[in-house]
Amino acid sequence: MAKRPKLTIAGTTIPAGEICDLRLKVSESYTGDPIAIPMRVMRAAKHGPTVFISGAVHGDEINGTGIIRELMFGPEFALQTGTLILVPIVNSFGFETHSRYLPDRRDLNRCFPGSMSGRGSMANRIAGSFFHEVVTKCDYGIDLHTAAVRRTNYPNIRADLSDANVRRIAHAFGCELIVNGKGPLGSLRREACKAGCATVILEAGEIWKIEPGVVEVGARGVRNVLKELGMVSGEPEPPLYQTRIDKTTWVRAELGGILSFHIAPGEIVEVGQPIATNVSVVGDAKSILISPADGIVLGMTTLPAVKPGEPVVHIAVPRKRISRIRQEMKQATANGKKKRTRRSIQQDLTTNIIVHPPDHHDAHWAEPNSS
Ligand SMILES: [Zn+2]
Repeated sequence: MAKRPKLTIAGTTIPAGEICDLRLKVSESYTGDPIAIPMRVMRAAKHGPTVFISGAVHGDEINGTGIIRELMFGPEFALQTGTLILVPIVNSFGFETHSRYLPDRRDLNRCFPGSMSGRGSMANRIAGSFFHEVVTKCDYGIDLHTAAVRRTNYPNIRADLSDANVRRIAHAFGCELIVNGKGPLGSLRREACKAGCATVILEAGEIWKIEPGVVEVGARGVRNVLKELGMVSGEPEPPLYQTRIDKTTWVRAELGGILSFHIAPGEIVEVGQPIATNVSVVGDAKSILISPADGIVLGMTTLPAVKPGEPVVHIAVPRKRISRIRQEMKQATANGKKKRTRRSIQQDLTTNIIVHPPDHHDAHWAEPNSS
């Protein structure tokens, strides 16, 4: 299974059975000092798959950094087989400036596989070094992301489910929602898959934060994948339910004004259900935004001031009927711990959103659906 029994990264050969902290030089600062990607390589004595876990490819998406730090410093786990490469910050430049982008204003996650020719743009060279030195040496990858600025995402896996190896780790990670697709051109996961490294992404939470619920879900998900691949002992922990998502849809603001939300990330919604009330700032116009479909709240804005047409809530339309999802959740509730974890993630993701039911006279919905 292992691509290379002998593993060399950034000029260092890491022997089987050892843990090694490395720095991969990818650029230089204005002062001519090296800019490097720090990483930890853990090798079991026994051969097995090689897996990379990457965070902060977008430099402001630091939940992934938090997840990888939890894997480094949280409860210890013994690697039984294979190699695990933990990369908490890929975009070192963006991380330093709290920015998604590189100093040349390029998006690193549209520049893979990059270039090793020494003639490409800054972004191309950085992408090329990481891709060549790490990704091409791996069998599997998990790239950790968050929603873009002013939005939050309920933890979900995005994966090209037409690839059997990708499908295997996407399911094992244990998120309720798996959004099917190859990803944008030049994105790390799309190009990694093309190069033979089955890669998925986690989308969870907000930028500029390390959120406890997201860290818990992310670290458990990575461990689940390592269990599935036989690299760590034990069985993956399944979620309350799991469904594939082939279609998503945005609900947009109708008025310039202020929103009040009636749903939280991860909540199951029915077609016609009020999801937010949009009121002009002095209250002379009002519209109730409703869900256009049966679905699950995949993401939402965290900024309650909107203009007409701005995105408010991202709804995932599941493959499974929502009645079936509710039934599966009910069956799984024997496990109270999972339900508590789910609730605490929803609370974490709504710390700056007030979620309350719509006025009784506004709609027939007395309470938002608690799930
Ligand atoms: Zn991202």
